Amino acid sequence: SKAQLFEKGSKMDITFKDVAGLDEAKVEVMEIVDFLKSPKKYTNLGGKIPKGALLVGPPGTGKTLLAKAMAGEAQVPFFSMSGSDFVEMFVGVGASRVRDLFKQAREKAPCIIFIDEIDAIGRARGKNAMMSNDERENTLNQLLVEMDGFGGDSGIIILAATNRPDVLDSALLRPGRFDRQISIDRPDVKGREDIFRVHLKPIKVSQSLDIHKLAEQTPGFAGADIANICNEAALIAARKGKDGVDMADFNDAIDRVIGGLEKKNKIIA
Ligand code: ATP
Repeated sequence: SKAQLFEKGSKMDITFKDVAGLDEAKVEVMEIVDFLKSPKKYTNLGGKIPKGALLVGPPGTGKTLLAKAMAGEAQVPFFSMSGSDFVEMFVGVGASRVRDLFKQAREKAPCIIFIDEIDAIGRARGKNAMMSNDERENTLNQLLVEMDGFGGDSGIIILAATNRPDVLDSALLRPGRFDRQISIDRPDVKGREDIFRVHLKPIKVSQSLDIHKLAEQTPGFAGADIANICNEAALIAARKGKDGVDMADFNDAIDRVIGGLEKKNKIIA
């Protein structure tokens, strides 16, 4: 149903403090937040505010989280859709959904529109096996029409996320569209430690827990994996009737999450 497609202009209580690491990306997006907060400051000398930015990085690294935090920081409504929602849609439906979304957003501007997995609709011609090409192109064309249809003073910023910038139709990357790219990388050991700290906040841990060690034991893990580990560890400890989560529970949780990741990779391969 339509309701599943976008979170309609909801107010966000997520802010930058919920996003750990990603220091460089945060600096770049803070500028966009400032465009939303005080557009006049930027357009005074005749400059045009960019319409959109592409968040590029592997799955689970916090692209959606960062987009929501931008809305939270700017205190503007957040509209979202996912490119994958448009897969297997009836002819004409994708384009009309895009039109609807932008219509609602214009009424609530200033606001943020977030398009997750934009590669599902934004692939260069002839490279998508998932959706009939005509329908995908209609949807993509409607998105381009909508983006071209408003000026930089509209107060709408469009963010899109992808882990495959290489397959995107170059029309999307032209000036005046997604002409800024912000890269969201997998966290280093310091970043992972920060992410652990965010996700350990609601959890009762034993005094002996060594957070730095947890970060060292999880190379290559994305933020989503770390969130998952913290939750698993809390459940494992609770099942054993402990009153605090300790290192052994985290080791079990890490093994379990690694097992899950291996299974997922096997299915994909
Ligand atoms: P995908 O490409 O799969 O959509 P994504 O990059 O959009 O992934 P998110 O959906 O933002 O990733 O991340 C999933 C969850 O992982 C977040 O809701 C959050 O709990 C956790 N997470 C990811 N990155 C971070 C981070 N940098 N700081 C804190 N939590 C994070």
